Amino acid sequence: MNILERYHAMEYGPAPEARNEADAWLAGRDFSKALFIGGEWKAAAGGRTFETSEPSSGKLLAKLSDAGAADIDAAVAAAAKALPKWSASSGYQRAKVLYAIGRAMQRHQRLFAVLESIDNGKPIRESRDIDVPLAIRHFIHHAGWAQALDRDSPDHKGVGVVGQIIPWNFPLLMLAWKIAPALAAGCTVVLKPAEFTPLTAVLFAEICERAGVPKGVVNIVQGGPEAGAAIVNHPGIQKIAFTGSSEVGKIIRKATAGSGKKLSLELGGKSAFIVFEDADLDSAVEGLVDGIWFNQGQVCCAGSRLLVQEGVADAFIAKVKVRMSRLRLGSPLDKNTDIGPLVDRSQLDRVKGLVAEGAKQGAVCWQPDAALPSSGYYHLPTLATGVSPANILAQEEVFGPVLATMTFRNSEEAIELANNTRYGLAASVWSENVNLALHVAPQLKAGVVWVNGTNMFDAACGFGGYRESGFGREGGREGMYEYLAAKLPLGPVIKAAAAASAQPVEQADGTDRTAKLFIGGKQVRPDGNYSLAIATSKGRLAGEVGLGNRKDIRDAVSAARACKAWPEATAFNRSQVLYYLAENLSGRADEFAARLVQLTGVTAKAAREEVEQSIERLFLYAGLTDKFEGRVHQPPARAVTLALHEPVGVVGVVAPDNQPLLGFISLVAPALAMGNTVVAVPSERYPLLATDLYQVIEYSDIPAGAINIVTGRGAELAGVLAKHDDVDGLWVFADAATCAKAEADSIGNLKRVWSGNGRGLDWASDDAAGEAFLRRAIEVKNVWVPYGD
Ligand code: NAD
Repeated sequence: MNILERYHAMEYGPAPEARNEADAWLAGRDFSKALFIGGEWKAAAGGRTFETSEPSSGKLLAKLSDAGAADIDAAVAAAAKALPKWSASSGYQRAKVLYAIGRAMQRHQRLFAVLESIDNGKPIRESRDIDVPLAIRHFIHHAGWAQALDRDSPDHKGVGVVGQIIPWNFPLLMLAWKIAPALAAGCTVVLKPAEFTPLTAVLFAEICERAGVPKGVVNIVQGGPEAGAAIVNHPGIQKIAFTGSSEVGKIIRKATAGSGKKLSLELGGKSAFIVFEDADLDSAVEGLVDGIWFNQGQVCCAGSRLLVQEGVADAFIAKVKVRMSRLRLGSPLDKNTDIGPLVDRSQLDRVKGLVAEGAKQGAVCWQPDAALPSSGYYHLPTLATGVSPANILAQEEVFGPVLATMTFRNSEEAIELANNTRYGLAASVWSENVNLALHVAPQLKAGVVWVNGTNMFDAACGFGGYRESGFGREGGREGMYEYLAAKLPLGPVIKAAAAASAQPVEQADGTDRTAKLFIGGKQVRPDGNYSLAIATSKGRLAGEVGLGNRKDIRDAVSAARACKAWPEATAFNRSQVLYYLAENLSGRADEFAARLVQLTGVTAKAAREEVEQSIERLFLYAGLTDKFEGRVHQPPARAVTLALHEPVGVVGVVAPDNQPLLGFISLVAPALAMGNTVVAVPSERYPLLATDLYQVIEYSDIPAGAINIVTGRGAELAGVLAKHDDVDGLWVFADAATCAKAEADSIGNLKRVWSGNGRGLDWASDDAAGEAFLRRAIEVKNVWVPYGD
């Protein structure tokens, strides 16, 4: 054998990470008291326990207390007790605690990594080099936020007691993503880890004891869905932060509807990994290995759909197969292991079932010729080709080491395929042409896009999804806002509208003054040909408006979706149009003031003021259109991250009765400013103020479909908008029941709902305008662009 042959024949030997410290820690702990509540270790009140076992062997690791409703009560009470002092503490005091947590974690870094690999099954290389260092980075990064917030966001305060529920795939990292920003904001927390992976959270609670976290600021309860549901439904909690499956996310959205709880959902994904023919194919293969086989594919943003350009598809797939054959399955504690076991037998069965179904639906599933370890929940890396876009492997989140492959011809087709999913978490784009990559990235419906890379994360860069991947962001400035409450000026309680007559009423002078609907830039008759009689403040007939129905909303949503000219216009362009709108409204100020007097009975002076404020507000948003911009982050990597502000999409607005012109404009203008297209339902009582705007809009160069106005019954139309899966955001200022129903009915596509919870705002206040509104009108997309050779 010559040297070269010897070199090629070399085998990896075992390189095990020592586990004695972790075993000693496990043996030394009393897991029958595993609930960390108010700084004390407690058993579950009901005495129940659950087991966690080792995925690589199936062996029992520990039996832990299983929290029930009484334990959640105790934990929320402890968090509520600790809240006043913690939220009143200075940013510096909170920063010191966060920093101390980060430093203490650093001192026990290896123990965290080994425990995580034992409990979850992930290769030690990943827990040691990625999960744990990133978790530490989150605490240290957010120490800075605790102090920065006092200066940065004086108009915000911590939201209160927060309930946090996390999954099993990144147990410690997800804990850090949740707890660090919450503590920085001055919130206290009740966090529940997933039942498969409770251990590193126990060690983290020990760290909190040592780092001097005040009692009750961090409470960690253990258990499964029952404990999770008790957190979600607890009235003493002001915000729920959830990471997990879209299915459970929808249950939580429904359960919290009408409760006034703030909610963020980080859910599943089916992310595209797009390889253009000019990509560096070898780098792309390495990226793909990381994209889909990192953590056995049990990654929310796994690049589980490979889209490869036709010209290089065969060559690329061949390279992928060679690389797959070299992936090493084995003990998670072996430093050479690429692929460990899945977390649990149930997960293994689920993955096998999906692969079998995918094959039944026509996919060709290829696996390397490798032996599976004799015990543990291992699944071979799997490459599915011949996958049709409708195949279950192209549509469902597998959450396992399974890659579905499709090909495309050009960038338009790549974008279309990439967006052909109900999810929208992440995407990778591979091309040596950065112009092409940056042309494609904004067109992908995904919260994170990696250019020539994958699975890059950082505490300074927001992470989170579009569509059914949930809403809210973790990390960065946008992640901080998830734990802050804006001080919005509350307005009156909104009462449900009394049923009005739908009968057409003859106009006194015989002329037809029925205002139509405004859809796709045209005034159109309502589908049902019914009208609503609108009364003056004295109870006389002021005019009639069309009684919009489901079909009209459908038409309006189609028109809003079809309007590309507005979202694609430059911010400067939109700004000029909004200025023009203000100018045209100003030209008819007297008319609008008279209308306000006629309908609402306010004094002429008050009416004039409301019109002036409406014009001023349009001016404000016209001016902010090209100023509320994204940022550039500089994460600790050879990359820049562009945090782009993108419109949410089609936004439904259900406007309130109080200050009907100003309220309408205060909601519609920020949505338009950020490039959304709008379907607005004006005040049910005073819709003529909106219908009088038709001509103003027509004269203002707003493209057809950018704003659509459907008059009618607010509650009914809010319900139609909430259920419409092509509406991306919904802002509802209506009575409490309508708001609650809109939230509950929004689960189809998990649209972003902002509801006043039955209260209006004082629209005349300066605080009823500005960034708090613009922030709701955008999605932040983080585009990672690496540099260097
Ligand atoms: P899961 O939804 O089954 O469970 C997540 C958590 O919710 C667990 O703690 C569980 O005990 C709890 N839970 C279950 N039912 C509940 C209920 N009815 N009420 C309240 N809590 C309940 O998800 P999983 O299987 O643990 O995790 C996998 C999922 O997590 C995948 O879909 C993955 O994509 C997603 N995930 C998303 C992100 C992200 O940032 N977007 C990150 C990691 C994982």
